[in-house]
Amino acid sequence: RSGAEQFTFQAEVTRMMDIIINSLYSNKDIFLRELISNASDALDKIRFLSLTDKSQLGEGEVANLEIRIWLDKDGKTLYIRDRGIGMTKDDLIKNLGTIAKSGTSAFLEQMQKGGDMNLIGQFGVGFYSVYLVADYVEVVSKHNDDKQYIWASTADGSFTISEDTENGELGRGTLLKIHLKEEAQEYATEAKLRELVQRYSEFINFPIYIQTEKEVEVPVEEEAAKEGEQKEEEKAAEEEEEEDEEGAEDDEEEEAKEEEKPKATRKEKRQEWDLLNDNKAIWLRKPSEVTEEEYQKFYKAVSKDYAEALSYSHFRAEGDVEFRSILYIPSFSPFDFYDKYYEKAQNGLKLYVRRVFISDDMKELIPRYLSFVKGIVDSDTLPLNVSREMLQQEAALKTIKKKVVRKVLDMIRKMAETEVKCKDMDAKGETEGKPSDKECGQYGKFWEQFGRAIKLGVIEDATNRNRLAKLLRFYTSKSGEQLTTLDEYIGRMKEGQKNIYYLAGASKEEVAHSPFVEQLLRKGYEVIFFTDVLDEYVMGHLLDYDDKKFANASKEDLKLADKDEVEKKKDKELKEQFKDLTKWWKKVVDDSRLQAVKVSSRLATTPCVVVTGKYGNSANMERIMRAQAF
Ligand code: ADP
Ligand code: MG
Repeated sequence: RSGAEQFTFQAEVTRMMDIIINSLYSNKDIFLRELISNASDALDKIRFLSLTDKSQLGEGEVANLEIRIWLDKDGKTLYIRDRGIGMTKDDLIKNLGTIAKSGTSAFLEQMQKGGDMNLIGQFGVGFYSVYLVADYVEVVSKHNDDKQYIWASTADGSFTISEDTENGELGRGTLLKIHLKEEAQEYATEAKLRELVQRYSEFINFPIYIQTEKEVEVPVEEEAAKEGEQKEEEKAAEEEEEEDEEGAEDDEEEEAKEEEKPKATRKEKRQEWDLLNDNKAIWLRKPSEVTEEEYQKFYKAVSKDYAEALSYSHFRAEGDVEFRSILYIPSFSPFDFYDKYYEKAQNGLKLYVRRVFISDDMKELIPRYLSFVKGIVDSDTLPLNVSREMLQQEAALKTIKKKVVRKVLDMIRKMAETEVKCKDMDAKGETEGKPSDKECGQYGKFWEQFGRAIKLGVIEDATNRNRLAKLLRFYTSKSGEQLTTLDEYIGRMKEGQKNIYYLAGASKEEVAHSPFVEQLLRKGYEVIFFTDVLDEYVMGHLLDYDDKKFANASKEDLKLADKDEVEKKKDKELKEQFKDLTKWWKKVVDDSRLQAVKVSSRLATTPCVVVTGKYGNSANMERIMRAQAF
């Protein structure tokens, strides 16, 4: 194009596009889902803007918030058009190529490790999946604040942008012209496109239309009349013609119409638009009327996940604050959930007000440690025509958040209880009424993916700390290869035992053989082995559970409960006997590094041990802090 400006893709984007365009990946289908999801996002944005500024929507056809898909005559080009917010020239440059998204390199890394292309949407680079099926793509876009532009690229490391003088006026929105590769011709059929939309995009909340060619009967007399006859008229004409053209198939119908004069018609091919999705919000339906499959499909639509959700909850909250919600726990944690825990904006839970999408970045809706939860919250109580900033101040959000947290924790608790039940039944050899293997294994999967989130919750959520503590899983000196719970630990406590003993370290083996726990183990106390770096932070916030105090085995004040008089007397004697040694020791070691030297009763075979003061950091904590350079 003359006058087109040329731009270079950001280096990582080029590398990624290279991989995509040359990919032999067999499931290229996903590209359509990604493009429709972008169209839907863009429509959400303009609808949101129009809440506070109605003029943004425009008038007439341009105000129809919809998506249309069609093929050109020779079947080599696929078009997808939305009436979304569109992109300014600047948006086109930034969003489609010159600035790498945070997920770009992570996605590249995954692909190099043989990861699944299906994940692309989760990394925030879904647009580029169009190059799975296209060798040339044009993005024509019109934003209210700018002129109409064409972005174009053959995925060769560069793209061009030019003012659009060839496509006519879009009004507002984006039109993708996808020039299909030779080997992607399967996408040039209406049937395939229908199948894909139905499979992947059924729950998009905007109408999706596909262009289809239909044979219609046109009454001859009306031929001269202007186009766009009423459907009823066509249908009536069709019915009247049955006798002439197709024979009398339906006698009753025929008789009923007999009085009317038959009209002459002729057949004509017409381009029509078929609606592909039922864009009624699924969360408005009764839970009893939604199938498991529909829930899972909707999950994939809202989450950009390709795997099924582990668990979900669909409910309606009533009272002062009314809202409906479907909450999902994914099967896998997001790729950067823990790495970017403190930096990343949350997205997953979408807030709607009266069916209108408002935001998927509402920190006020769910606490950070549960931000892996996906789904929607749709409230009738919140005001619709206010800015996001004003909405954040709404007191109702606090109530919603509280209820959402409860529901999520309930969901998790149920999985956890099922697991415990299964374990108990297995131990007793019972099978009657046992939950399915899938149900029994759910919490194990959850813990593997989100156990750390639960720990972060113990640290961050004082209100629900006890509920969260119930969900903790760990190994102990008695648990063997199975994870155990605090309740189970308490169930096994020795008579008279007041404390829950634990020790943190780098590995189960290290902790199990530590001199700190020698005496405890010898006396038959169960000791929790904490090996995750988070564990000791967690224990810093969890001081007791079910009236039992936690006792860190590496701390100075560790007391064993079951000392008898004889032992106490012996302790005293030993203290006297070694008085000189402890004094000498205190003298020869630098004062600033040593608090006290004591005769200890915690050891069994090890002669001596360095412990931490009651309020000091444990050795394990020191190790972690050094490693993380806090
Ligand atoms: P994501 O959708 O996760 O942001 P994509 O790679 O799919 O990542 O899209 C990149 C960006 O390009 C989007 O965030 C959006 O700003 C812009 N974009 C893509 N498609 C459209 C569209 N149809 N209308 C408006 N903007 C779009
Ligand atoms: Mg996208």
